[in-house]
Amino acid sequence: MKIHQVFTQNALRNFTYYIELDNNNLIIIDPWDAKEAQAFIESKQLILTTIINTHEHWDHTQGNQELVDIYDCEVWAHEVGVGRIPAQTRKLKPAEKIRLDDKTIMEVVDTPGHCQAHLCFIIEHQGKPYCIFTGDILFNAGVGNCHNGGDVEDLYETICTKIFTLPDSIIIYPGHDYLENNVRFTLKYESSNTQAKLWLEKYKKSNLDGTPLVTTLEDEKQINTFLRLNNKEIQNSLEVPTNSEKETFIALRALRDKW
Ligand SMILES: [Zn+2]
Repeated sequence: MKIHQVFTQNALRNFTYYIELDNNNLIIIDPWDAKEAQAFIESKQLILTTIINTHEHWDHTQGNQELVDIYDCEVWAHEVGVGRIPAQTRKLKPAEKIRLDDKTIMEVVDTPGHCQAHLCFIIEHQGKPYCIFTGDILFNAGVGNCHNGGDVEDLYETICTKIFTLPDSIIIYPGHDYLENNVRFTLKYESSNTQAKLWLEKYKKSNLDGTPLVTTLEDEKQINTFLRLNNKEIQNSLEVPTNSEKETFIALRALRDKW
């Protein structure tokens, strides 16, 4: 199995992911550009079996119909996505485990918060959790917004119970590239965070069109304000005093909305 992280170069800075399996099958997560996907499929002579959408927002599904028309592939998404996800063929169930090839299993994780019909996907490779596709729930150094059908309390629960509890080594594959802006947000509320400064420097030298920077959950726990809710410097720098981690999370999400 090989994962290709593709920066789409659109204004929203979406990522699309190609999962190239050992059996020559291909899965595409959140297709943006059907033509580019087609070029990839043809150059590598792969068989596109399945599109998977993390959620129903148009920037994560806009390549669906064109690819289905060409390849007659399946489209898997949240059960609540039916009628909103173009060409959906399968309703995924929370905690469902699906074998992708001999060495690879995908686990479906129900992750409300950014919107109600949102899923993340853990890839287990050779029996170990390898990476998670986090859509618009967790970004590099940030979390998703709750503007379009989301709920900040659900987002907090999802981050605490479904993300924070994963193994530290798991690789994070988010739905957008917001790393630079998010790290700057971290530094505004925790200016002494040396890891955040380091990642900002790394980002400036990185090449999104070549190999985008990837973080693990361990990195996120160091640079993502929303995973550092018990940090005193962050708590003290908030404009309104908070009494719990949940209140800190909600206050930070509101500040990030205005950032
Ligand atoms: Zn979204």
